[in-house]
Amino acid sequence: MSLVTGKITGVSGNLIIVVVDGAITQNEVGYAVKGEQRLKAEVIRIQGNKAFLQVFESTKGLKIGDQVEFTGELLSVNLGPGLLEQIYDGLQNPLPKLAEKYGFFLPRGAVLEPLDQERTWAFTPSVNIGDKVRAGFYLGSVPETQFTHYIMVPFDVKGEWSVVETAPAGNYTVSQQIAVIQDERGNKRSLSMQFQWPVKLPIMAYKTKMMPKEPLVTKVRIIDTFFPVAKGGTYCVPGPFGAGKTVIQQITSRYADVDIVIIAACGERAGEIVETMREFPELTDPRTGRSLMERTIIIANTSSMPVAAREASVYTATTLGEYYRQMGLGVLLLADSTSRWAQAMRELSGRLEEIPGEEAFPDYLESRIAEFYERAGLVELHNGGRGSLTIGGTVSPAGGNFEEPVTQATLKVVGAFHGLSRDRANARRFPSIHPLDSWSRYSSAVPVDIVDYARDFLFRGTEVHQMMMVVGEDGTSLDDFIVYLKSEFVDAVYLQQNGFDPVDAATSPERQNYVSQLIHSLLRKKFEFSSKEDARSYFYDLRQKFIDWNYMEYGSEEFAVQEKLISGLIKG
Ligand code: ADP
Ligand code: MG
Repeated sequence: MSLVTGKITGVSGNLIIVVVDGAITQNEVGYAVKGEQRLKAEVIRIQGNKAFLQVFESTKGLKIGDQVEFTGELLSVNLGPGLLEQIYDGLQNPLPKLAEKYGFFLPRGAVLEPLDQERTWAFTPSVNIGDKVRAGFYLGSVPETQFTHYIMVPFDVKGEWSVVETAPAGNYTVSQQIAVIQDERGNKRSLSMQFQWPVKLPIMAYKTKMMPKEPLVTKVRIIDTFFPVAKGGTYCVPGPFGAGKTVIQQITSRYADVDIVIIAACGERAGEIVETMREFPELTDPRTGRSLMERTIIIANTSSMPVAAREASVYTATTLGEYYRQMGLGVLLLADSTSRWAQAMRELSGRLEEIPGEEAFPDYLESRIAEFYERAGLVELHNGGRGSLTIGGTVSPAGGNFEEPVTQATLKVVGAFHGLSRDRANARRFPSIHPLDSWSRYSSAVPVDIVDYARDFLFRGTEVHQMMMVVGEDGTSLDDFIVYLKSEFVDAVYLQQNGFDPVDAATSPERQNYVSQLIHSLLRKKFEFSSKEDARSYFYDLRQKFIDWNYMEYGSEEFAVQEKLISGLIKG
């Protein structure tokens, strides 16, 4: 079968219109040929013999009449050992290697193998000749950083096949044969450690998808206690500039109870991406004391890449997350920011002259966002193991207005909402997750009655505070004033947490339970203060002791001593 070619009949920004000489498919990859350069593009719409392609690079210089070669393949990523520790662009080009080869200014059309083709991996087979296998079954494994990376039957294999050859244990490159499988009709297929998968198709080589119920412990108190995330669940973080988005992302990456973290930095300001690429490799993993990159993959768009690559980066990141989920691992995907991704969608839709919906976003915006978050999930694998992919997406609504289409479409599908508040960030109350606007559908690390009771106090405290701004402290009753002091206390000692202190940054669920019980008894206590001044100095003293306590290792001797002091103050 000879591959289809076409001729460009129109160029509009990153969109090219091509008349084709044969059958092509939606999302097929084509290359616009410009002299020595081959510019990667993806078919996004077909009308008769006319195809619309989004080009992943600058279309500068492309002209009517230029040739396009189609590949017959969908936009795909390479899967196999060696993905961890990588920093890729949206098309899975390894950025540090590109920079090494081409310097800071990448030439257009520059590509490199996503996986190191020379490196060898210590492969141990786990199947025997005659074994029946299906897509996603394990053929063997290699060690990759601190994980067992399972080498799987490619996900496009349909039905049951038999193993007819398997390589002995030894060192192999990703492209060397490690097994041969055969179907009922005798068709054979040679397998290596790497294979491809189209980024826009969810990987579903598992038995079942299950309800995400088990908490994904982040060790951030306000999250685990008040607005929890579940393993395999989804959440959204609206992040206005300076609100603490990057810091919370780094904290969750380090402390969340997951194996692998994937960061999709899609099209945020260039400086922020550089920041991510520079800061992440410096982070240490609190579990190992070594680099956090050992269990991280970063997908980042360089500022020179056009909008189409932003779109691709979200899908690439998701596919890599699904791949590691198939190995029975817990994966956390942080997409930053989904608003930029949606803007790319809007720009493209405009060029396609589609009928615009709300705020000029295409009418399929909602379904695209829903499809993205649906790729999260807790799954049961063929061997009975479990893997999860949790997705957290930031949204950067212009002017912090949540009534816009991207935030609204996201809120419909996610399981938790962590609204970052600029006011809290300005007041240096970190993490700046808003305690009243945020919500979660997942279950907390702490009993629900305790959580509800505390939230009620936070709400009432805010009300008293607002009233106090009008009538002044003198016009506020002593009882109301105590409500206010109690809510401020909860905020200061529990909601706020120092992300830069190794002890305070990571509060285990046990400790959260323990401490919240103590706070609960304080909130329930009826105090008999003789004046507001008395009340204020009592809570001030208690708060200081409590904050000191937060910096002490749970279960340590000093922790126990401080606890006696605090309990004494509370019980009076
Ligand atoms: P954004 O990414 O939303 O623009 P950052 O995450 O960079 O904002 O936060 C801005 C600044 O706020 C940080 O440089 C830091 O000083 C402070 N900050 C944010 N989160 C925390 C936190 N959890 N603990 C302490 N300081 C924080
Ligand atoms: Mg930032």
